[in-house]
Amino acid sequence: MGISERELELSLDEILKKREMHISKSLSIGHGKPLHITKGKMQYLYSKSGEKYLDLVNNVCHVGHCNPHVVSAGQKQMAQLNTNTRYIYDGLTEYIERIANTLPGQLNVGFLVNSGSEANELAIRLARAYTKNHDIVVVEGAYHGHTGMLIDLSPYKFRGPGGKGNPEDWVHVVPVPDTYRDNSRDYIGELQDIVEKAEPVAGFIVESMLSCAGQIPLPEGYLAKSFECVRKVGGLCIADEVQVGFGRVGDNMWAFEGHGVIPDIVVMGKPIGNGHPMAAVFTTKEIASAFEEMEFFSTFGGNPVSCAIGMAVLDVIENEKLIENSRAMGELFIDGLTKLKQQHKLIGDIRGKGLFLGIELVKDHSTLEPASKEAKSLVEGMLSRNILLSIDGPRKNVIKIKPPLVISEKDVEKTLISLGEILSGIEEEKSTNNS
Ligand code: PMP
Repeated sequence: MGISERELELSLDEILKKREMHISKSLSIGHGKPLHITKGKMQYLYSKSGEKYLDLVNNVCHVGHCNPHVVSAGQKQMAQLNTNTRYIYDGLTEYIERIANTLPGQLNVGFLVNSGSEANELAIRLARAYTKNHDIVVVEGAYHGHTGMLIDLSPYKFRGPGGKGNPEDWVHVVPVPDTYRDNSRDYIGELQDIVEKAEPVAGFIVESMLSCAGQIPLPEGYLAKSFECVRKVGGLCIADEVQVGFGRVGDNMWAFEGHGVIPDIVVMGKPIGNGHPMAAVFTTKEIASAFEEMEFFSTFGGNPVSCAIGMAVLDVIENEKLIENSRAMGELFIDGLTKLKQQHKLIGDIRGKGLFLGIELVKDHSTLEPASKEAKSLVEGMLSRNILLSIDGPRKNVIKIKPPLVISEKDVEKTLISLGEILSGIEEEKSTNNS
């Protein structure tokens, strides 16, 4: 009997009991109520009881849950060969070359690993090896991974529950350039100050659109100017494209491209394998060569099955024109959300691009007091309509939209209608309670 058949015999309560006994509480359950999901198909998830959910949360199953082209590529390669990078096989070189061809010419050396965390660790090691410096600059609110070093580097974690509170002395935190909350601050001036005081730095790690910090697009010129400041003191610039890469933002393959910059190191993860554990780091020959004295080996990184799956993901992005779909669906969302903003005072800000969007809820448009409870009610209301959404940002008041890129116009329309109705309900309830 396979695991999934066994699972179908257990009730949700029985599974939860087993979970409590054998699984640490540090692994949380999403969506407030436990969802017992037994099948995924493109943008939809199906529960044991047959409910169909529209998944607007999963930015890993980029080309759709269980995309048949990806599944079949993995199955075929699993039945043919799976080994490691100490052997020669076509898949590895072809795949690395294909990704390199999507990047600016000089970023043509790739390393394949198994998770975004591993890839960011490697990126930091590369920056340190090349610059011979140790310190790293990071943006407030950022999350870059779950390893010891990356928890110390992620304000989202070290300032959050269970964290140490303050950064280590090698970590320098620059403010989130959140122009919705404060348009008058000189974010680059502050960054420059911090970078110059921190000198010598090995690198600056930054997402090309901020995710955990609250779905925040970087202001025009921010990446170019911040890279200039960091390079001036000899540091390297690392673009963490784990969430925003592979066409999610709807204009280019990589979100940094929209800012007219070329990072020294690019980190990829999540969507790269559509759910298969893979990640990658790309850099220049010169930077990679500073790292060549010690052997680099990852048992599973870049194995033939991963390469076949990674190739299939790229095929689907290209063949199904998913970057174009991301842009078109993103525009539909922004249009509809802008209309909703005019009707619902709770919506303070609509932002983002492609299928990487944020809706910030506030109680008051002048004080910007976060409407965190209302954000939670909105997500719960959407769940009752079988639409999955989630919340992020330091104030827990930003609704994230980052679905598989295969969503359709119908999905967007249904989402907008439901958002409007649930928001009206929340507002009515508030006014009844206030009267
Ligand atoms: N960087 C960013 C921006 C992320 O969002 C994440 C995961 N949420 C990571 C790195 C770490 O990736 P992983 O969970 O695959 O280790």
